[in-house]
Amino acid sequence: MEVTKVTNATRNFKIGELETHALRGVNLSVNTGEFTALVGPSGSGKTTLLQLIGLLDLPTSGQVFINGREATGLSRDQRADLRKQTIGFIFQFFALIPTLTAYENVELPLLLNGIKPAERHSRVSAMIEAVGLSDRSHHRPDQLSGGEQQRIAVARALSIKPSLVLADEPTANLDTENGKQVMDIMQKLNRETGVTFIFATHDPRVIKYAQRVVTLRDGMIVDDNGKSK
Ligand code: ADP
Ligand code: MG
Repeated sequence: MEVTKVTNATRNFKIGELETHALRGVNLSVNTGEFTALVGPSGSGKTTLLQLIGLLDLPTSGQVFINGREATGLSRDQRADLRKQTIGFIFQFFALIPTLTAYENVELPLLLNGIKPAERHSRVSAMIEAVGLSDRSHHRPDQLSGGEQQRIAVARALSIKPSLVLADEPTANLDTENGKQVMDIMQKLNRETGVTFIFATHDPRVIKYAQRVVTLRDGMIVDDNGKSK
């Protein structure tokens, strides 16, 4: 099944007289269970494309579908609901809330989705265990290493049982060993739960984890080794 589809998407940014064509007609379809890397040099449009797929931004023209629903056809509130129920995010700088414990950070998306306490507790505990950090549950982010923070961010992204997880340069701020741990966990969760991942990277060590590699250049897809039929 198709989790997301992007058709003829463009995204222009205008700052004063200067217009940047960040995406110039992108077509991409990703099926359930894929583990797909979005690669390409800095400025090629990876983040812009993830933002469109994540319903954090809208295309200048073209369409973005999540589970068959088209983003521009939805109201702002409908888009926000669809996002919080179906999409998990992992960012380069972890983006945990500094005043909350690891446990509370993982719990937050479940609170926002109105999940009841007992169910919340079992899901949060299971996710924190899945990323190997049960003994760090009550630590705040500043009491965790970068690698541990990113593993908590992975647990947070997965806690809602999303259709799709988007990760933008998830290992860019980690050393080799911690980057490997984070990728190993993402791969394990993909294989065990079948959740779809799309991750942007330009690190060759990360690219080699991907089942499918989609290459962007100057806002266009120039190569795709696993195009969905
Ligand atoms: P990547 O993630 O591959 O490095 P981006 O998607 O961040 O690439 O950027 C693609 C292009 O769009 C770049 O030229 C960048 O400067 C431009 N761009 C991205 N976001 C904005 C923005 N909010 N305002 C203006 N230009 C932007
Ligand atoms: Mg980027």
